[in-house]
Amino acid sequence: MPRCAYCLDEKADEHFRKTEHVLPLSFGTFENNFTLRGTVCDECNQYFGNHLELALARDTFEGHSRFTYGVKDPEEFRPFGRGSRIIIKILEGPFEGAYVYREYSPETANVILRPLPQVGFLNSSDKYEYFLLDDLPAESQLRERSFNLKHRRAICGIAIDEDALRAKLAEKGIDFRHHGEFVAPQKSESVLCEVEGTIDQQIFRAIAKVAFNYLLYWQGPEFLLETPFNLTRRYIRYGENPGYKLIAVRDQAILADEPVVGERRLGHLITSNWAGDGVSIVGQVSIFNWATYCLSLLRDYAGGRRDLKSGHFFDLSSRRILDLETR
Ligand SMILES: [Zn+2]
Repeated sequence: MPRCAYCLDEKADEHFRKTEHVLPLSFGTFENNFTLRGTVCDECNQYFGNHLELALARDTFEGHSRFTYGVKDPEEFRPFGRGSRIIIKILEGPFEGAYVYREYSPETANVILRPLPQVGFLNSSDKYEYFLLDDLPAESQLRERSFNLKHRRAICGIAIDEDALRAKLAEKGIDFRHHGEFVAPQKSESVLCEVEGTIDQQIFRAIAKVAFNYLLYWQGPEFLLETPFNLTRRYIRYGENPGYKLIAVRDQAILADEPVVGERRLGHLITSNWAGDGVSIVGQVSIFNWATYCLSLLRDYAGGRRDLKSGHFFDLSSRRILDLETR
C-alpha cells in the first residue's frame, strides 16, 4: 500500500485519487505541470487546499497579484473577509491615508478598491488620520496628540452612516456634529496605494509545502519518507514547531541577474540544493518572482549523497516550466 509523504499513513489506492500539484493550480496552469500521484493522500490534499492554499491564494500579496498579472479573471476574485492579513491604504489624493479593500465589481468587470468603514480625524497638519471602527481612539488620546476636535471638518466618517458614526464616537467620549457631506471626486483610473501584509505561519507552511513537494517530485517518495524529514513534514501538515527557523524571507531575486528593486521576469521560481555545510538541504520559492522564501528543509543529514541541485522557472508568458540549469 502506498504511504503518504505528509501524514505517513499507509492507505489503500482509493485514498490516493486526487492529484497534488507541486505549485498550487491557483497560481497558474503550465504545460507538463509538476504533479504528484500516489504520494500525497486525499485527506492531506484536501487539508492543504482548505487551510494552506486558500490563505496563500486569497490573502497574500502574491495571491492578489494573480489578478494584476491576469493569472485569474477579475470575476474570480474573492475577498478574504474579516481578519485579512492584507491592509491597503491610499497614498494620494483627497482620501490619502484611508483604508480600502479589493472587491470584484460587476459594473466595471474589474477588481476595484472600496473603502472600509472608518473615521478620519483632522490632525495639526490639516490632514485626516484614519482609524478603523475597531481601533477608534478615545477623546483623551486625540487631545494628547493635539487633534483639533473643535474644527468644522474635525471628523470625517467613511462608509458609515451618520447615526452609526455618532454612536461609535459617543462610545469613545467624542461629540459629533454633522456639518455636511464630503462628496468624493470623480474616481481616477488608478490610485497609488500602500499594501501591508502579514505573513504568518499558515502562509509559511503553504510555501514550505511547495518546496517539499518540489523535492518529492524530483527525488521521489522513498527519500522524502526518511525520518529526518519528519520535522519539516509535521510543520507543514500539523503546524508543529520544528524547533529551528525553517523559513525566512528576503528581497533578493533568485536569478542572479535580476535586481532587488525593479523589473524581473514574470513567473514563479522553485529551487533545491545542499546548503554550504554539505549536510543540510535548502530550498527557495518565489511566487511572481517577488519575495524569496528561503527554506531549511532538512538539517544534518547523515545518509548518502545524492544530486539535489535543481531549479525551475514557471514562465507565465509561455506557460512552460523552464529548467534553470539548461536555460
Ligand atoms: Zn496524508
